[in-house]
Amino acid sequence: MDPAAFGMAFEKVGLGRRYKSLADNEKKRAMSKNYDCIVLGVGGIGSAAMYYAASQGWRVLGLDRFPIGHARGSSHGQTRIIRQAYFEHPDYVPLLKSTYELWDDLEKITGQSLFQRTGLLQVGNPQSSIIQGVKASAEEHALTVREFDNATLQDNFPLFHFRDDDVGVLEENAGFLRVEECVSTFAQAALEMGAELVEGVTIEGWDQGAAGYEVTTSQGRFFGRRLIIAAGAWAHQLMPELDRELRVIAKHQHWFRIPDERTRLDKGCPIFFFETAEGYFYGFPDIDGNGTKICEHSGGTPVENALELNREIDPVDLERVQHFAHHSLNCPRGIHHDHRVCMYTMSPDEHFIVDRADDQVAFACGLSGHGFKFAPVLGKALVQLLEGSPRADMDFLKLKRFNDEP
Ligand SMILES: Cc1cc2nc3c(=O)[nH]c(=O)nc-3n(C[C@H](O)[C@H](O)[C@H](O)COP(=O)(O)OP(=O)(O)OC[C@H]3O[C@@H](n4cnc5c(N)ncnc54)[C@H](O)[C@@H]3O)c2cc1C
Repeated sequence: MDPAAFGMAFEKVGLGRRYKSLADNEKKRAMSKNYDCIVLGVGGIGSAAMYYAASQGWRVLGLDRFPIGHARGSSHGQTRIIRQAYFEHPDYVPLLKSTYELWDDLEKITGQSLFQRTGLLQVGNPQSSIIQGVKASAEEHALTVREFDNATLQDNFPLFHFRDDDVGVLEENAGFLRVEECVSTFAQAALEMGAELVEGVTIEGWDQGAAGYEVTTSQGRFFGRRLIIAAGAWAHQLMPELDRELRVIAKHQHWFRIPDERTRLDKGCPIFFFETAEGYFYGFPDIDGNGTKICEHSGGTPVENALELNREIDPVDLERVQHFAHHSLNCPRGIHHDHRVCMYTMSPDEHFIVDRADDQVAFACGLSGHGFKFAPVLGKALVQLLEGSPRADMDFLKLKRFNDEP
């Protein structure tokens, strides 16, 4: 679609203000249709999948229990880190190169500002998995990163207090995504291309029927020739065969108003990620006066029922994050002012699971707390899987790796 025409359409419907979920009479009509593709779960990955499915000219329906951009799953809390020198595994880097291009395209097409490059400072001792991993990915894929020994680290980043054996790696091309806006932009862009959306509906299951697939919900049955399942922390309910692979944990996001203007985005504060003897901690600059978001990436408490997630502050988690913030950013105690709970859905090896459940059913799950930045490349890859043209460089994410003989 011509970006200019697209922009006008966005203005007309008021992007970011309201999504048009089907009204009751329209829902009845939707149940009599046979969609080319139904997307089960319209969060981070499902919203992107809806967009790329609609871009194919497919008639697309998205179904979700909650309103777009909600705070009940895994895609909320203002920001997500995006980076390329991937300490988790160099095999992700080609996907990250694609995802950068796709985020840029989405911004151009919609006129929305979603991805801000701030730089990411990663810190640990020279043998830490983070320092070793970032350097391995950068070397294998010729990515530019700047390295700092202990003395130059302290000189260049006086905001932080480092341990005596810390070294650092700065990836200047890294940054953050405005997470809720990303989800709403993908969903709205899909709707602009003719996709339809039903919010407030519980998906109960799906089955293969004579002419495709039948999706049973709290509001009736919908029919589609293809399905994309992107149900986040609820994936195992829609695909019970994944039950033993997935483990959901609660993760807390905390905001602190640190009285030091060097923590501000407009003063050049980078995102930071520290591997310490106590665990992995990360944070963002103060973006809009709401404070510095600081979280622990390691740890997390098991979640039995994602619908009944305890949303209270966990005092143990807060104490660990405050301890880190106090020692690493000189953050005074008692200035915590905001908090959100979110969920990681962990796979056994903490790598994503992206595969087909059936000829015409593709899914992505087990994103293990690092999947959001990949939303466009995963959304597009799910559509490619259904078209029978999967990306070869995603083979390492197939479900069958857990069943392979050693
Ligand atoms: C605190 C925190 C920090 C993170 N930081 C980063 C980061 O810095 N960088 C990064 O790349 N990633 C990060 N992640 C991970 C990333 O945010 C997630 O991997 C990603 O958002 C998951 O998207 P999803 O689409 O799988 O899940 P969701 O966005 O939760 O979407 C799933 C959707 O499915 C719907 N659904 C499920 N079951 C049903 C049903 N039966 N009926 C109706 N609807 C249903 C849900 O309502 C939901 O909307 C972080 C995650 C958390 C929690």
